[in-house]
Amino acid sequence: MVAAVSFVMSALTRALDSLYRLKVGVTGVGAGRHERPHKPLLLLAVLEGLDAGEATPDRVPWSRALIARFGRRFGFVRAADDDCTPQLPFLHLRSDGFWEPLREEAGGWRPLSAPPLVADADTGVVRAGFTGEWRALAGDAGARVAMRDAIIARYFARHRAALDADGAPAGRLAEPGEDEERRVRAASFRGLVLGNYDHQCCACGLRIRIPDPEVTFVDAAHLIPFAESRDDHPRNGVALCKHHHWAMDRQLLAPGPDSRWHVSRRVEPRRSRGEEELFRLDGQPLIPPEESAYAPAPEALRWRLERLVGSG
Ligand SMILES: [Zn+2]
Repeated sequence: MVAAVSFVMSALTRALDSLYRLKVGVTGVGAGRHERPHKPLLLLAVLEGLDAGEATPDRVPWSRALIARFGRRFGFVRAADDDCTPQLPFLHLRSDGFWEPLREEAGGWRPLSAPPLVADADTGVVRAGFTGEWRALAGDAGARVAMRDAIIARYFARHRAALDADGAPAGRLAEPGEDEERRVRAASFRGLVLGNYDHQCCACGLRIRIPDPEVTFVDAAHLIPFAESRDDHPRNGVALCKHHHWAMDRQLLAPGPDSRWHVSRRVEPRRSRGEEELFRLDGQPLIPPEESAYAPAPEALRWRLERLVGSG
């Protein structure tokens, strides 16, 4: 029994890490640049279809029910330039290492080579299945709840209320499982944010990265704390050195929606060299991540600035 539980947990934690790192693709220009929602959204629809008994982990039919589940949620999370195309992630999820889409052709089931057509739905000739340890996970109702929660936290936290209102499954893993999930998801979030900033503090530019075993001086800091937002989207995070992370946590330093740093008036530059250094950051620009789709979200910056001590 204990062995079975620990197998499920380690497989689940690996799966949650994969879910945080789906190869989603980025689209759009300027302020509209964003991750494509299609892959995580299809997974939400598939997990829900499993809950409803419309599919099994090794046999997820390409069906009108799946297309409808995808389409309903798409309306909540889409950006203006996203198209409702569930057939694309149904095919392309195969590159993420746990999903095998197939088409029945003369002689048997072959790997799907092109997106399925709407006309293929419910004909029984196109289906997909989870592979490897994902198969057991997708068959476990508790694991599905954890996976759904991770997908929403990573990709759709801003739409959680709408997605939950549309049908959140009941049931949770036991408490120890949640701790383990949270630890893994925090590590995945950290990896994403540090990667986006190339391990550089976005306040002072500090980058010290010693390999093997890796030591990095930079943290991934949530802008709106996870406990409040349950939002692990990389746009809710910045990379900060220990010094500036500490100052932001104590609300002596805040990034603002003007993409500049703001220093609390409680910092007195004449008192010490440290305070003078911190003070000099006031009005300096945030160092942006390489990919603008992962730049801090304006509402998260506003949240931080509103809480700067002594700013009002
Ligand atoms: Zn720094």
